[in-house]
Amino acid sequence: MVVSSQISPRAVAGRFRFALKSVVDGGPSVMPSLGSQTLDEDDVDLAKALLADPTSWLDAEAVFEFEDQFASWNGSAHAFAFRSGRESLSAAIQGLGLSPGDDVIVPGYTCVVVPNAFSYAGIEPTYADIELDTYGVDIAEIRRLVTTSTKAIVMHHLYGLVSRDYDAIVEFAAERGIPVIEDCAHSTGATVHGVNVGNRGTVGFYSSEQSKVFNTIMGGVVVTSDEHVARRLEAVRSDAPAPTHDEIKSLLMSVRLRHMQEKSRNRLWLTDVAALRFGKHEITPTSIDEYDGLKPDRYGEKMAGATAKLAVNQLRKIDAYNEERRAHARHWDAWADAQGYRKPLVVEDTTPVFLRYPVQVPAEMKADLRWARTELGVRPGVWFLGTHHPVNRNEGLCPNADLAVRTVINMPTLGLSQSQLEGT
Ligand SMILES: *Cc1c(COP(=O)(O)O)cnc(C)c1O
Repeated sequence: MVVSSQISPRAVAGRFRFALKSVVDGGPSVMPSLGSQTLDEDDVDLAKALLADPTSWLDAEAVFEFEDQFASWNGSAHAFAFRSGRESLSAAIQGLGLSPGDDVIVPGYTCVVVPNAFSYAGIEPTYADIELDTYGVDIAEIRRLVTTSTKAIVMHHLYGLVSRDYDAIVEFAAERGIPVIEDCAHSTGATVHGVNVGNRGTVGFYSSEQSKVFNTIMGGVVVTSDEHVARRLEAVRSDAPAPTHDEIKSLLMSVRLRHMQEKSRNRLWLTDVAALRFGKHEITPTSIDEYDGLKPDRYGEKMAGATAKLAVNQLRKIDAYNEERRAHARHWDAWADAQGYRKPLVVEDTTPVFLRYPVQVPAEMKADLRWARTELGVRPGVWFLGTHHPVNRNEGLCPNADLAVRTVINMPTLGLSQSQLEGT
């Protein structure tokens, strides 16, 4: 999740050598990025206009506008925006009235910020292993781990896939009256039986962090159709501190930085220019403290109006980008078939959004990814590098999670050239 913009002469030389070789071989001069692919010129223009008008940065109406638009696009009764997905989850924990010491089941293969949100609330989660079809929580694990004191179940839809056991988990939880939290950070816009994911659990949360389905550098939103939970979430959102002037400025500058480095056609040349110009404003969404399970100084913030305006602009384009992702995924389907690799399962009557295309490869291929650069002209992602990405905290507890950590890589689903898509 962290993209370094450090400028080392060796890295620059390596990049140019690779570009030259690619072009000579008939390939693209730069590899498709794994982040920020949904930022366009219009988002950059918007960020520039916002940078010129700091008095508008905390415009609360803009946040309400985004919440309304997100709720209606997503088919949700209520939506509440926060600075990030993890802070939306933190709000959900409060919205559900969870207390220190409560029993909560959480996926044993997730991003470190998910268990952190619980431990900050005094809750030590019980970890459920995943299945290897869609990397979702396995219903058999929920059955094994549930107790009469289980207060919530967290499930997720990873890589933009709809979780294999979605129906089974929500039905099981409903029978027992256990609230379900859906982590939709990778899957904004994915549908099941025609309904967007996140709407069947008690709450669902989404992320617009810079590597996710839509991009506001950092951003998050939580939805619910439960009126009681909605009132609590609204109170949490109203009481949440606002981001600082410096945070908002860095976020807006980062839109320009990320667009130059990850999306612009000229990014080969602009990467270093961008780092020199905007590098000091670079946002690191997950800090080293968070890797260590510590709570950052600033946590639980609401979304800034400026971020909400970016989010509204991104939302206009999300369906088109998700369509493009599905087209890219068909390319990777054909590739996985040809290589004999296990393809991700697309459950019947679901529409995935393929934030990335996950595939299991031999562990030594994940450990050294240079083959992908030369054979495919891409730099695969490594989600996840640990059971608590990017750190490993639970080794030995969830065997499928451990296997996925060793073998799952993810292919980019935006930005392949036409010749790459045609497999030439
Ligand atoms: C990114 C991510 C989150 C948190 O979203 P942020 O907006 O980065 O806080 C939660 N769950 C998963 C699976 C994620 O990948």
